[in-house]
Amino acid sequence: MQCPVCNRLDAGKVGTNQYFCPHCFVEFNMTAQGVKLYYIESDGSLVALDDMTKPYSYIKEDSGIS
Ligand SMILES: [Zn+2]
Repeated sequence: MQCPVCNRLDAGKVGTNQYFCPHCFVEFNMTAQGVKLYYIESDGSLVALDDMTKPYSYIKEDSGIS
């Protein structure tokens, strides 16, 4: 499955219609409204993200600082 954030092709399936990208550390699934993204907190909980723009810019900013 292609990751909607980094566009790599090795996102793995972790559940019914649910996928995980090991590069972005995001889970995502396909809905009738489009791709739904979840950021994984350090404690393992999932945080739903509103749209594809926010997590992408967040990851870019985060990797740019470090
Ligand atoms: Zn990714």
